[in-house]
Amino acid sequence: MTQYEAVIGLEIHAELMTRSKMFCGCRVVDSVEAPPNTAVCPVCLGMPGMLPVINRQAVEYAMRVALALNCTIQHHNIFARKNYFYPDLPKAYQISQYELPLGVNGWLDIELDSGETKRIGIRRVHMEEDTGKLTHLEDGGSLVDYNRSGVPLLEIVSEPDIRSGEEARAYAMKVRQILRYLGVNSGDMEKGVFRVEPNISVRPAGSQILGTRTELKNLNSFRSLAEGTAYEIARQIAVLRDGGQVVQETRGWHEGRRETFTQRVKEEAEDYRYFPEPDLPPLEIDNAWIERVRAELPELPDAKIARYRAEYGLTEYDARVLAEERAVAEWFETAVSIGSDPKTIANWIINDLFRLMNEHKQSITEIRISPHNLVELIQLVSNQTINNNTAKEVLAEMFTTGQPAQTIVQSRGLAQISDETTLRNLINQILVNHPEEVIAYRNGKQQLRGWFVGQVMKATRGQANPALVNKLLTQLLNTPSDNTNT
Ligand SMILES: [Zn+2]
Repeated sequence: MTQYEAVIGLEIHAELMTRSKMFCGCRVVDSVEAPPNTAVCPVCLGMPGMLPVINRQAVEYAMRVALALNCTIQHHNIFARKNYFYPDLPKAYQISQYELPLGVNGWLDIELDSGETKRIGIRRVHMEEDTGKLTHLEDGGSLVDYNRSGVPLLEIVSEPDIRSGEEARAYAMKVRQILRYLGVNSGDMEKGVFRVEPNISVRPAGSQILGTRTELKNLNSFRSLAEGTAYEIARQIAVLRDGGQVVQETRGWHEGRRETFTQRVKEEAEDYRYFPEPDLPPLEIDNAWIERVRAELPELPDAKIARYRAEYGLTEYDARVLAEERAVAEWFETAVSIGSDPKTIANWIINDLFRLMNEHKQSITEIRISPHNLVELIQLVSNQTINNNTAKEVLAEMFTTGQPAQTIVQSRGLAQISDETTLRNLINQILVNHPEEVIAYRNGKQQLRGWFVGQVMKATRGQANPALVNKLLTQLLNTPSDNTNT
C-alpha cells in the first residue's frame, strides 16, 4: 500500500493591538464587548471618495513581528486592492499587500514532542486590514458589525514545511507566544484576533510533487487545529486510496462532530484582480527605521530559555515554564534581581505560586504578591525564622490578603523556635516523660526517632526548627547522662 506524507502550510491572521485602525482614526475596540458599529467612520465604512492614511504604529508592530520571525524587511512596500464582493467588506476590496510584502524569507524553530527542534520557513509577513464581522441568524438573516472593519491585520504565511497536526499546533503556538511577547496581539483565538488556517495536501512519501490542497477554516483552538489537520490528512489519504481525487476547496471544522466539511470551492488568486492601491503612496522603510525597531525588540522566549539555563542553572523544563509568558518571565527576573538563589525562586513560583494562581484563577499581573514579597518570604526560610511548611501557609495568606510575610509571621506567632536552650529543655522533658520509648530506641529500635521528632513538633505546633531538633535529638538520645536517670 502506498505510504503518504502530508504537506502543510499555515496562514495566520493576527489583529494588531494598535489604538487606532490601519487606515483611519477609529479606535480599535474589543469585537465581542463593544456595541456593534460604534467605532466606524466614512473611511472604514467604505464611503466613496474617502482617503486612507497608513497607521505608522501598525507598520512598526508588523516590523517587530517580521524581525522576530527572522524575516528580511523589504524597503519598498506597496499596498494592493484585493477585490471581492461580500457584505463584510463595504469597499468591495480589501487593502492588502500582494507583490511586495513587508517581510520575506523568515524562519522559526519549533520544539517537537520528541524533543527535537524543527525549522519552519516563513514565506511572507504582510499587512492588511480586517473585514467586518457577520452574524448569521437562525431565521436566515445576517447582521454586520463594522467595528472590526479596517483593524490592522497581519498575515503570516509559512512555507509548506509542516507534516502533521501536532507540528501545526507547535508552530502556531510558538507564533502566538512571540506575538504576545511583542505586545502586538493578545492571542485570543476565541475572540478571533488570532486565526489559523492550514493548507493541507498529501502525496506519496518521497515524492516532490504537491498534491491538491484544501484549506481548513473555523479553527478556534489549538486543539481544533491539531485535530482538524489530522482529520483532513486522514480524509485525503482515504480518498486517494479509494481511487478518488482530492477536490481543491475550503473546508470547515465542525466543532461538535470533530470532522471537516465542504464550505466552498476555492477561488484562484487571479479571481481577486489584485492591483496597486492608487490612494496610498509606496511605503518606504529605511535601514535606520528597521534597526531602531530591531533594537527595541524584547528578549524572545528561546533566548530567555537559553539564558535561564546558562546563567541561573535552571532545568530546561523550569526555564520553559518561566519563559512561557513574558509577564511571568519578567516577574521572575525582578525577583532574581532583588537577590537570592534563582533556582529557589523558580521553585517557589512554579510549585507554589502557580498553584495559588490556578486556584484563584488569577494571572501574574493580577496577583497581590510582588516579586519583593516572595523574596522576603524566601529569606525568612533561609534565615530559619520559619520552616518550609509554614512558609507555604504564609504564602497562601499573602496571596489572599496582600500582606507581607513578616507581618503574617508576627501577627500569627508563626516564627520558628530556633533557640537551642528552649528546644533542649523541651526535648529533655519529652525524654523524661517517655522512658520506655527512650530505652527501646537505645536498644536498637531506630524507627522511634521519627516518633520523637513528631512529639517535639506536636509540642511546638510545628514551629520547631527541624534541623536543630534533629541535631539535639541525636545528642540527647545518644548521651544518657545528659537527660534522664535511666
Ligand atoms: Zn474608521
